[in-house]
Amino acid sequence: MTEDILTTLKILIIGESGVGKSSLLLRFTDDTFDPEIGATIGVDFKVKTLAVDGNRAKLAIWDTAGQERFRTLTPSYYRGAQGVILVYDVTRRETFAKLDNWLNELDTYCTRNDLVKMLVGNKIDKVNHELEREEGLKFARKHSMLFIEASAKTRDGVQCAFEELVEKILQTPGLWES
Ligand code: GDP
Ligand code: MG
Repeated sequence: MTEDILTTLKILIIGESGVGKSSLLLRFTDDTFDPEIGATIGVDFKVKTLAVDGNRAKLAIWDTAGQERFRTLTPSYYRGAQGVILVYDVTRRETFAKLDNWLNELDTYCTRNDLVKMLVGNKIDKVNHELEREEGLKFARKHSMLFIEASAKTRDGVQCAFEELVEKILQTPGLWES
C-alpha cells in the first residue's frame, strides 16, 4: 500500500550548546551516533519522511547552534515552524535553567501560537544525572509541552520524541493544512 505524503512540516531543534541537538537529529535521520560530532556552525537542515497513523509527513528539521553569536538567524529560523523540540542535558542543570529563555525566544519570534512543543531531557545513558525525570515532567506540564527523556547515544526515546510531536501536530486543526 502506498501512502500519500501529506504535507511538509517545519520542525526546530533548540536548546543550549552541547545538550545533544545535532546528535538527536543524526540519530533520528541516520540512526547513528558520532561521539566526535563537531559543533554546529549556523544552521543545519535535514529532511526525513515519517509515517504516523498511516499517513506520511515530510519533516524539514532545522538544527542550529545555541551560541549567542548566531542569534541573528533567529527570525527566519523560527518563521512558519509547526513544531519545536526543546532539549536540555539531564547531567547539566544549567541547561535546564535556561529553558525559560528559550520559551521566551519562541514567544517572541514564532509566528503561530498553536505551535506544538516537545521537551527532551537528553543523555539519560549517563550516570551523573542532575535532573530527575519529575522535574522535566513538571516543567513540561506547566508550559503545555510534551515530554520525553532520551539518549541520542543509545537511541532511547529519540524516535518517540519525533513521532509524538508529529502526531500532535497532525491532530491540531489548522496547524498543517494549508
Ligand atoms: P549540540 O551542541 O546541542 O548540537 O550537541 P551535540 O549533538 O554536538 O553533542 C554535544 C556532545 O554531547 C557531543 O560530544 C556528543 O557526542 C554528546 N552527546 C550528545 N547526545 C548524547 C547522549 O545522548 N549521550 C551521551 N553520553 N553523549 C551525548
Ligand atoms: Mg549542534
